[in-house]
Amino acid sequence: MFNQFYQDILNNQLHSWIETMPALLADWQKNALHGEFKSWQKTIENLPEATATCVELKSAVAIGHSDDLNLGQQKRLEVLLKQFMPWRKGPYQLFHIDLNTEWRSDWKWDRLLPHIQPLKNRTVLDVGCGNGYHMWRMLGEGAKFVVGADPSQLFVVQFQAMQKYAQQPGIHLLPLGVEQLPASNAFDTVFSMGVLYHRRSPFEFLQQLKDQLRPGGELILETIVVAGDENTVLVPGERYAKMRNVWFIPSSKALCHWLSRLGFKNIRVVDETVTSLDEQRKTAWMENESLADFLDADDINKTVEGYPAPIRAVIIANK
Ligand code: SAH
Repeated sequence: MFNQFYQDILNNQLHSWIETMPALLADWQKNALHGEFKSWQKTIENLPEATATCVELKSAVAIGHSDDLNLGQQKRLEVLLKQFMPWRKGPYQLFHIDLNTEWRSDWKWDRLLPHIQPLKNRTVLDVGCGNGYHMWRMLGEGAKFVVGADPSQLFVVQFQAMQKYAQQPGIHLLPLGVEQLPASNAFDTVFSMGVLYHRRSPFEFLQQLKDQLRPGGELILETIVVAGDENTVLVPGERYAKMRNVWFIPSSKALCHWLSRLGFKNIRVVDETVTSLDEQRKTAWMENESLADFLDADDINKTVEGYPAPIRAVIIANK
């Protein structure tokens, strides 16, 4: 499953990983596989054989043209992809399918893109990449090599489905958590979006991101924030917006202060946006509860638990 990845890193700035990654990933394959992973792999093998005659990654993620599949293949593809629901991050255009996901992940991309160092020829890591939506957009911006890391195996499978048809070199999703990645000190750009609040120990997490950057490299951090000064941080009770695994929600100012304590430079908040009911919602590809169900029906400025509704910030800094 990872042979091409090993081949690629032997010849690029990630070569130090060749000493550790094969053992880590072999251990994952042996010990960590989700009960359904094998059946998902069967589904991947059963996806219709087809060649995408066009792949657009710069303005959207659009793979293939409806004429690339016959009618029977179109039906089969749609049925099989539905087996990988919920589809949270997207949207994808795949042959005839408008894969309308829970999140308009493209809106997040549009908010941050004007502020980052151009990705052309850069080696990029996306920590907590989900199914890889933004990784495709990074390739679309001309990145030379894109690595994603995400422990969710369903998202790994969703990525495999896209790559089966996109057939792009220089893009790999590793099924690992950030804490499992050996320090490489090698990436030109590290993204981590929507992950910080899931970590119990934010300073360790931010240090782990720093350990993946080369000196001078750029961090793009996106997370939920609250209003407040540099000492404001919300640690919710058991749930925040019905999510059980939320630990630290700092203010943007507090987060900048944390980054500065860890030695990051040139730290700036480039965007703060209240998540709208159009950006995160139920669709035909994600039928579970979504933002509208997580907010107070009488006051959408509050979560159902009474906390401030999610505001998301993008913060950029250099190592
Ligand atoms: N970055 C994407 C997805 C965010 S969702 C976006 O901004 O749209 C948060 C992701 O973090 C999930 O896919 C989850 O599987 C992943 N995640 C959870 N724990 C993680 C860890 N320890 N290391 C890396 N990713 C993690």
